[in-house]
Amino acid sequence: MSNILLKGIDLHRTYSEGSIQTSVLKGVNIEIEDGKLTAVIGKSGSGKSTLLHILATLDTPDKGQILFEGEDLTCLKSSQKAAFRNKKLGFVYQFHHLLNDLSALENVMLPLLIGDLKESIAKERAFNLLKRVGLEDRVNYKPSELSGGQRQRVAIARALVNHPKLLLADEPTGNLDAENSQKVFELFLQLVKEEQVAVVIVTHDLGIASRSDKIYTIENGVLGDFNDLKS
Ligand code: ADP
Ligand code: MG
Repeated sequence: MSNILLKGIDLHRTYSEGSIQTSVLKGVNIEIEDGKLTAVIGKSGSGKSTLLHILATLDTPDKGQILFEGEDLTCLKSSQKAAFRNKKLGFVYQFHHLLNDLSALENVMLPLLIGDLKESIAKERAFNLLKRVGLEDRVNYKPSELSGGQRQRVAIARALVNHPKLLLADEPTGNLDAENSQKVFELFLQLVKEEQVAVVIVTHDLGIASRSDKIYTIENGVLGDFNDLKS
């Protein structure tokens, strides 16, 4: 039986810049299953990042609901949204978004320290996560001392360190060469299995999408079902 973790219902988002209005999402419906890998594919500018930011409560839809385990996230106060993101959500960006002055270990510890975990426990958990992504010999390196693929591994470790229920990844391999892109994606697949975390990966890489449990397409402000396109 399917178990829906997150449901986006009739999501709308229009950007206004002066007199120009851009309707990016025009009634998006999406269902994310617990512990599964869901891909969203679409061209550049089709609204993939906008959708992901809305699902992450980093942006607010003009209309629509986001139900997470049945609770409407759009009704939360901003402090509640911040707590939700810290406890339930991991986010991986195309550009790693790590803090350059901190080591890999400190970057991964940060969400735990923000969540008021004791430093010694945070350190141990962050180290274990970095070990799982194959970076135990790089824990004291700064982001500038790591390769692009290694930086994305640190970003993935940071996103997972609080045991989120949902991991949102915005073109996480978009900046990597083919080989590193493949390796980082394999890591995602492995973690989805081991951590039983639901992952939404936004990409324009069909190879990645084809290995997902479910594929949505995004075009003209609405989502389609990729399987419908194939048949
Ligand atoms: P994608 O991630 O698929 O490339 P985005 O969600 O980033 O697409 O952007 C979708 C559309 O919304 C684009 O046309 C972009 O120019 C526009 N857009 C994105 N963010 C803003 C913003 N803050 N203000 C105005 N327009 C924006
Ligand atoms: Mg984008």
